[in-house]
Amino acid sequence: MKKIAVYPGSFDPITNGHADIINRGLRMFDELIVLVAYNPNKKTLFTVEERLEMIRDVIKEHSNIRVECFDGLLVDFVRSAGANVILRGLRALSDFEYEFQLALINRRLNREIETVFLMTGYKWFYTSSTIINEAASLGGSVKGLVPDMVNQKLIDKYAIKKEGV
Ligand code: ADP
Repeated sequence: MKKIAVYPGSFDPITNGHADIINRGLRMFDELIVLVAYNPNKKTLFTVEERLEMIRDVIKEHSNIRVECFDGLLVDFVRSAGANVILRGLRALSDFEYEFQLALINRRLNREIETVFLMTGYKWFYTSSTIINEAASLGGSVKGLVPDMVNQKLIDKYAIKKEGV
């Protein structure tokens, strides 16, 4: 049986920390689905389409990975995709409590699905989309923390925002 894992997140935008989890996950599973899990009522910097496009660009060299989006219950997506693992990344201690809750509720909702955690690469310990967005919005450089193409998108996005378009 193929080992298929789903790596869900908001990826607003994808960072090098996410990319590290993706690359390492690819070595553990036959197939990986990166899932942009979104809530249509939640405000994000990038649209779902923009987020999908950035992830697709990051993973373009791999064949055993695909990118999708979903606004429903995660375990429903995982089951319908024929997967049985949810892949998550863990950074600082602050991630732990939330991730613990999420893993437990998902396990309660479907006992066939396991959550697997990978520790962040030490370089990405403090890298989060939220911090990246905040720094970029204030004109700070986030080069090296996100893929180059994402860095450019952030520069463009905030230039547009500053112009008030
Ligand atoms: P963020 O918390 O950066 O807004 P997401 O909601 O997109 O990110 O996170 C999706 C998953 O990726 C979560 O399991 C999160 O803990 C993990 N993740 C996010 N950033 C990193 C990182 N720098 N290193 C390892 N895992 C990460």
